[in-house]
Amino acid sequence: MTINAKPPVESEINLAAEYARYSQLGILKRRVRLGWLGSLWQFLLVVNGWGKRAFDLIFACSLLIALFPLLILIAIWQLGSQRRALILDARIGRWGVPFQLLELNFDDNPTALARRLYIHRLPQLLNVIRGDMSLIGPRAARPGDLDLHQRALQKRSSVRPGIVSLWWLRKRANIDFTSELAVDLEYIDKQSVRGDVGIALRALPALLYGSGTATAPEHVDVLGVPMRNITMEEALEYILTAPSEPTPKQLCFVNTDCVNKAQSNAEYAACLRTADAVLADGIGIRIAGKILRQEIRQNVNGTDLFPLLCGRLETLDQGIYLLGAKPGIVEDVRDWVARNYPLAKISGVHHGYFTAEEEPEVLRQIKASGAQILLVAFGAPRQELWISQHLAGSGVSIAMGVGGLFDFYSGRIPRAPQWMRELSLEWIFRLMQEPSRMWKRYLVGNVVFLARVMWWVLSRRKTSSTAMEMGD
Ligand code: UDP
Repeated sequence: MTINAKPPVESEINLAAEYARYSQLGILKRRVRLGWLGSLWQFLLVVNGWGKRAFDLIFACSLLIALFPLLILIAIWQLGSQRRALILDARIGRWGVPFQLLELNFDDNPTALARRLYIHRLPQLLNVIRGDMSLIGPRAARPGDLDLHQRALQKRSSVRPGIVSLWWLRKRANIDFTSELAVDLEYIDKQSVRGDVGIALRALPALLYGSGTATAPEHVDVLGVPMRNITMEEALEYILTAPSEPTPKQLCFVNTDCVNKAQSNAEYAACLRTADAVLADGIGIRIAGKILRQEIRQNVNGTDLFPLLCGRLETLDQGIYLLGAKPGIVEDVRDWVARNYPLAKISGVHHGYFTAEEEPEVLRQIKASGAQILLVAFGAPRQELWISQHLAGSGVSIAMGVGGLFDFYSGRIPRAPQWMRELSLEWIFRLMQEPSRMWKRYLVGNVVFLARVMWWVLSRRKTSSTAMEMGD
């Protein structure tokens, strides 16, 4: 009997070989553990690790104490010069964890002798005490020295695999925007017993969310609002390839509140029907998708998309224009981008409280900025209607309404912590922040939305059964 298995692709073979290489030690350990000498061997390995650390600590501390008078002299000498006393050099430590290598800031003369005697390296004893380095070991590599993928795999193999993973949790919450490897490394970086307990607790409700995205349709329709059922990655591609399209595009993020508004605002509903791409934002739309048997693939919202977009723009010659929010806020968002994505281009900014008379000047500024991407934060549905009216005259390739996004990235309104987002409870956080404004949107709006979806399903069932009866 032949088994018709799919042959592994080359990248899978390479990956498997890498894992095999890194797990040689693991295989050896397992074999040893099986033997009667296993426990003793394990014990010796641990004692050896402790012994090495103890040796490092005793030696480094003793040397620092012995050289204390010399260090005082160097400190006094350094005070006289205008230079910074220490140089911090980024290096890669054990398990690929980065650390700053410490070095005294000596220039060539008159300290050439000191350099030859390696005195400038004395602060590295502090690196040893901190546990960044050992006295003896391989060279502390610079970030660019080793292949990134290799390092990542090495680091990933440094922990035992788990039954529940952060990646699984994010997949269940529809917020698996980055790669599995990136999330694994994030877990290893932040690993703690408290964090593990948190993941275990979050795993229980995550089991209820289900995962049927494999059968998700390309388009979904929620209460008459047609949406493209795409992932965050596909949304980024859509935005970044817009400049090569012949006509400018309008992209809308739609949550339960937007769908509710579209039920009573015909102009907004028409705008969403004619927009080039409408994307499903939030847990409410996801639940509606489940009820309507149209599985939503990912929670594609502007707030999560923004940093990913800035990251991609670092390597592209495209700029963003930020329009909206109260005066001062948008400038803070520009600073946030400059700090976190220094190579991403912000072509221009303008607050969202301009008069009808000032509007032509705002449009002129957007056009003159040469931006390809326009983010408009006036709140729904005003932002969507404004975009559909002014897109052609703005000179941009793509424009999207982003609601309160600028308030988040300016730091004015904190975003829900990651654990709440993983539980799809970001809306509760927003409700707690601005209860007087948000109670109607979330407490009333969510119930009304779900009632409408249920009614939609029931009425469609009724219509189809009537049609069948008539057919009989
Ligand atoms: N806003 C604006 N101009 C206006 C009214 C509102 O720029 O005339 C801004 C407001 O400062 C806020 C954003 O639009 O930054 C709306 O945020 P909200 O959270 O209400 O938007 P939603 O996410 O609900 O669409």
